[in-house]
Amino acid sequence: MELPFAEPYKIKVTEPLHRSTREEREQWIKEAKYNLFNLRSDQVFIDLLTDSGTGAMSHHQWSEMMMGDESYAGSASYFKLKEVINRLLGMPYFVPTHQGRAAENVLFSAIIKEGDMVPGNAHFDTTKGHIEYRRATAIDCTIDEAGDTTLYHPFKGNIDLDKLEAVFTAHPREKIPLCIITVTCNTSGGQPVSMQNIRDVSALCKKYGIPVFFDAARFAENAFFIKMREEEFVNHSIRDIVHEMYSYVDGATMSSKKDAIVNIGGFLACRSKELFDKISMYCILYEGYLTYGGLAGRDLAAMAQGLKEGCDYHYLEARIGQVAYLGQLLKDKGIPCQEPTGGHAVFVDAKKVLPHIPKEEFQAQTLAIELYLEGGVRGVEIGTLLADRDPVSRENRYPKLELLRLTIPRRVYTNNHMAYVAACLENILQRRDTITSGYRITKEAPIMRHFTVELEPATM
Ligand SMILES: *Cc1c(COP(=O)(O)O)cnc(C)c1O
Repeated sequence: MELPFAEPYKIKVTEPLHRSTREEREQWIKEAKYNLFNLRSDQVFIDLLTDSGTGAMSHHQWSEMMMGDESYAGSASYFKLKEVINRLLGMPYFVPTHQGRAAENVLFSAIIKEGDMVPGNAHFDTTKGHIEYRRATAIDCTIDEAGDTTLYHPFKGNIDLDKLEAVFTAHPREKIPLCIITVTCNTSGGQPVSMQNIRDVSALCKKYGIPVFFDAARFAENAFFIKMREEEFVNHSIRDIVHEMYSYVDGATMSSKKDAIVNIGGFLACRSKELFDKISMYCILYEGYLTYGGLAGRDLAAMAQGLKEGCDYHYLEARIGQVAYLGQLLKDKGIPCQEPTGGHAVFVDAKKVLPHIPKEEFQAQTLAIELYLEGGVRGVEIGTLLADRDPVSRENRYPKLELLRLTIPRRVYTNNHMAYVAACLENILQRRDTITSGYRITKEAPIMRHFTVELEPATM
């Protein structure tokens, strides 16, 4: 008999979780104004809000923390990280930053100006925010297949080369400071980009003289999907795949809170000495001196170790496998989810679970609240609340999809926790006819309203 899969680690430190009663949760969510961001973490049993900075560090990472060198300049921990970035990613230059958006801020300060165009696959919110804040435009060139949640495509993060070339021919070269490939593509659901697409995009960018960068938060998860789904790479190691991926780009911004499995940190890596000199000034201005960039020495040391662990095949098999496991449990119970399951999260199609709730009453948020009430599980709405209002008309923008995202932290929960989450959603599906109304807004901020919005039941 072939032996079954088992996690390539055991658990040394545990943190107790509190189970609550439905009555307690009804009270707490009401006090939180029906916004899950307002809950205290001890009011949550299983927290699937995000996979960002929520991973469990290994004992190797914790021992690196103890050996962190806190020198202001020339820290040994910096050189440890530099060594890993050089060797693993093949990038000669880098600056540490306190997280991913800080790397974006440093890079874009150096190269993006008003009126510029920045094409790529679907840009992440903070990336888009940093581009639009500079009065430039982010252009989404993701393949059309990514928009159909029921369609199977192995690489829904791919860039459509015709769409990309159309941007290159419509605008002069000086107006396009870079093209960004987000791996995996968070906005389209943690969907990977194929090596062939990375090669093709890189060649096209070269032809037009445009630099190409990775938004690299989940580069290792992307490499795992390349190994699993791209014929040419079945026998390649994750490290070789990672090395080849980076060989096609001029640099990368990284949120290390994802695939480097640290609680805080990021970096900006590049090939060009000239660009490094330019970004150095902004790093010092916004983040800190070049050898610490807004982080403690111990954070740099844990990141160096986490980058290596994040590229381990057996770890990735457990990680991606757990996300796929939850996706499969839900599909088996008839709960409609995005296909195929992405690298870091399962997306439940709230329009199909609660078709009788009007979109004006926030279907995905209603489902997120029900999931909390049912079992103390916190997911996150990716729907109308997040899509916010049109900046000109101030009308609500209704996106094509109303999704409930269940984001799985790395090495934190067991498959029993996944089964618990699936059972909660199954119960909701069975009693959905008793959910007769959604929510309405009582207070909202002018931008990024989903973080602070206040709601009440629409029937009140
Ligand atoms: C999380 C993330 C960022 C931003 O990184 P932070 O560390 O949260 O600042 C940028 N891009 C992608 C794809 C991300 O997932």
